[in-house]
Amino acid sequence: MDHFLYRRNRLHAEDVPLEIIAERVKTPLYVYATATIERHYQVFAEAFADLPATICYAVKANSNIAVIRTLARMGAGADVVSGGELRAALAAGVPGERIVYSGVGKTADEMAAALRAGVMQINVESEPELEALDAVARSTGHRARVAIRINPDVDANTHAKISTGRSENKFGIEWTGAHRVYARAAAMPGIAVIGAAVHIGSQLTDLAPYRTAFQRLRDLVAMLRADGHRIDVLDLGGGLGIPYGSENAPVPTPAAYAEVVRSAIGDLDCRFVLEPGRMLVGNAGVLLTRVLYVKEGATRTFVVVDAAMNDLVRPAMYGAYHAIVPVAEPPAGTLVREVDVVGPVCETSDTFATDRPLPPVVAGDLLALRGAGAYGAVMASTYNVRPLVPEVLVSGDRFAVIRPRLSVEDILGRERIPGWMRDDERALAPAGGEP
Ligand SMILES: *Cc1c(COP(=O)(O)O)cnc(C)c1O
Repeated sequence: MDHFLYRRNRLHAEDVPLEIIAERVKTPLYVYATATIERHYQVFAEAFADLPATICYAVKANSNIAVIRTLARMGAGADVVSGGELRAALAAGVPGERIVYSGVGKTADEMAAALRAGVMQINVESEPELEALDAVARSTGHRARVAIRINPDVDANTHAKISTGRSENKFGIEWTGAHRVYARAAAMPGIAVIGAAVHIGSQLTDLAPYRTAFQRLRDLVAMLRADGHRIDVLDLGGGLGIPYGSENAPVPTPAAYAEVVRSAIGDLDCRFVLEPGRMLVGNAGVLLTRVLYVKEGATRTFVVVDAAMNDLVRPAMYGAYHAIVPVAEPPAGTLVREVDVVGPVCETSDTFATDRPLPPVVAGDLLALRGAGAYGAVMASTYNVRPLVPEVLVSGDRFAVIRPRLSVEDILGRERIPGWMRDDERALAPAGGEP
């Protein structure tokens, strides 16, 4: 249930026709449905209702402060991975004591900001980082509550670029070295170790890797407790996959995921931190785009749209599948044909779909790329000097622009010609002859 449904043959976000938003705000743009975000949070929270769990929305999936606030209002905390995300979470109204600070490369300034904000915990990923945090905490008069991120060396069976729990990945400390690292941490006056963290990857469509990782965590907790450490908190990361429309098998439900947690580690007398990102917001967003041209190539048909890889990079970066649907519902029985849906950027990888069956479209038609609420707007760039596109949040029959379109002036206004090039007419004169 994602609240993007056809009504009277027009695709709506909740009660708002997407055509209306596209006319007012212009394409391309992202549209998010509040009801979907809220529903996904509810389903996730209910799955863990009988466990002592804090749900910290992984802000990196969609860091718009209106999206964060939508979740914060439902009681979610936040998982942040940069100083910028920390500020976004605080600006959205998430209290410091519900914020987890994760990430493999925190700077001293970011550590100090996290301590100042009184974050619930900082997840540390290496010994050098532990030393740095100890130094920052001592020099600022804090004691950092720390969970050490363990790399459980399990294969998450997901795309290589978003698999994070193998020993060859850059994340966490090797679980075989945990004994030593915890002993070091325990001796540091600026550090208070409160637990352990794992996060094995994103878009997991199979629960087996979680089971393996949690089992390993269970063994580790026993060992660390035998060493005399207090392990009160287990941060289980995020990663639960969502349906993008191309899966053969259904993706696991939050309830099934919670059952894995319950059966593997539910009896350890620990508080859990959960960091869902994609699962909460992924299917709550679409990228709305308009068809510019339908180009009949020699061997294939290209539908050229006004959105591009700089607006939504997942297809180019991960080969990701996004369902693409026309905003005007085609009459029943309309024949589809296979087309490539491509953007205007000068890269062949600027392709949203290849050989995709679509009903006939013409220039001016609106298309919605579904499942674009997570890792969409946040990963956008201004490549090809294309301004970042607007984001719109719908709630019932209302909608609001929660980030206006950047302008080309915004982009160029931040760029500078160095002094040595100013008034340099020769540099601007056409070069004569061969370069
Ligand atoms: C990316 C990330 C998440 C969220 O992952 P999803 O797949 O979006 O649920 C959670 N925790 C950490 C540490 C992450 O890096």
